[in-house]
Amino acid sequence: MRRIGVIGLDGLSRGYLNKLIERGVMVYTKHLMEHSEINTDLYCYPPVTLSSWPTILSGVNPAKHGIYDFFYYDRIKNDFRLVSTLDLEHPRIHEMLAMIGRSAIVINPVPAYPIIPIKNTIILSIEFFTPKPIVYPQEKAIYLKYFSSSEHITTDGFEEELNRAKKYMEGYISIVEDLLTCHKPDLLWINLHYPDSIFHKAAMEGKLDILYEKTYSDEVKVFSIIDKLIRLIDNEIGNVAIVSDHGFAEYNKYISVNTILYKAGLVNPSYDISIVKKLETLNNVEARSSKETIIKHSRLTRLLRHPLIKPMSRRLKRLYERITGKKIKIGFPVVDYKSSLAFMIGRASNGVIVKKPEYIERVRTILKSIKGIAEVKKREEVFEGRYLHRLPELFIYPEYDAGYNLIDPKIYDSIIINKKSIDHHPYGIFIMKKYRGEKINVTINNFYVTPIIQDYVEAPISIESDVLHDPTFSRIIKDDIKYTDLYVKRWTIIKRIYRFKK
Ligand SMILES: [Zn+2]
Repeated sequence: MRRIGVIGLDGLSRGYLNKLIERGVMVYTKHLMEHSEINTDLYCYPPVTLSSWPTILSGVNPAKHGIYDFFYYDRIKNDFRLVSTLDLEHPRIHEMLAMIGRSAIVINPVPAYPIIPIKNTIILSIEFFTPKPIVYPQEKAIYLKYFSSSEHITTDGFEEELNRAKKYMEGYISIVEDLLTCHKPDLLWINLHYPDSIFHKAAMEGKLDILYEKTYSDEVKVFSIIDKLIRLIDNEIGNVAIVSDHGFAEYNKYISVNTILYKAGLVNPSYDISIVKKLETLNNVEARSSKETIIKHSRLTRLLRHPLIKPMSRRLKRLYERITGKKIKIGFPVVDYKSSLAFMIGRASNGVIVKKPEYIERVRTILKSIKGIAEVKKREEVFEGRYLHRLPELFIYPEYDAGYNLIDPKIYDSIIINKKSIDHHPYGIFIMKKYRGEKINVTINNFYVTPIIQDYVEAPISIESDVLHDPTFSRIIKDDIKYTDLYVKRWTIIKRIYRFKK
């Protein structure tokens, strides 16, 4: 039976990988790329970690696996919450392999939490938004010693993040070495939060030169260990793939979708501390930031943001802080989800919730008229599947390559915020050493990855897979592929048992 190891590198773009290779940081990877059958760009839309990884891992689009962002918006409760593995409606590659009696080891699946136990798998959730490092089966809990549970949620700045990444990478190397001496898995898949987490910290500190120009010494150390891990996996297993869930690029104009909708009278602002806190908490999990925002006295905040008061608000704020001895932060308002008609939910989900169907066309027209927005599509024009109704009604396509991206869901003073930063871009990468003996370099979609790997390891592909009637995929795989409908059925049962036992 054929086996493979996969290394997922969050946010790795072609340009950044080239920088690392040109600086001689990833010698083995360079060699591997030159001799790989697949070395191509991977189109990931929306370029959002919590939607793209489940798509990559399951081989189906968000309308079939059910996850489009960090958040799940409940239209009946008019409220949102963080997504979990229980929201996932289609099994991922390790779960599919396990169902047909093949073995898999996964480090950092997405979603990470909770781990739904399944025979033939070893699963470690260290990063990617798990409240604490967890492992299955329990006997592998010894591996958690490499990861501190405090660092896993909170790291402060760029330097600290690089330091943590270095420590964690050393941990991952030891674990993989150990696991591969005791086990011979058909699939080993390890997702790393790098370079994404490093880029976001770099962006916060204005170190935008990390993307193409400058190389930091700890960055070299982190990626040297990653290169070592790739070599280790290739040597032990005999085939290796590298995949990313989106790329990264430079931007200088940020579009505030909720400000557009606020100006159109569709969004109602809110200074409600509980919403602000909840959003901040959820966003902080994403940004891995420990900075606590102190937003007190919402009435005062509202007053200070009033157009007439604003010119002197800084002075008033300082005065207030001096008198009371308390620190306050004047935050921009968030969306009042309960009373607003249309709004962007997550920081960069690209999705806009429109509560009433009769508003969809209107919202689409308003958003399309904004400079920097290339296209606004209805969800049914982008995705297809039985959970389509969960997704936001509209999806925005910013003009990424003209320097436009979307800003967080707050309501700002202007629609376009001019700031230089580095951020997500739809093109990730996919490299695979051995496949069908021919070179493949057409750009492929993120939902191709799992079917290609299943094809390689001689496992049937899910009948739900988006590649089923895809002409490009048919050209790649010819016509000797097997499909099965058992995966989704079993997954539903496995989840039901898990819920029952809870
Ligand atoms: Zn990502």
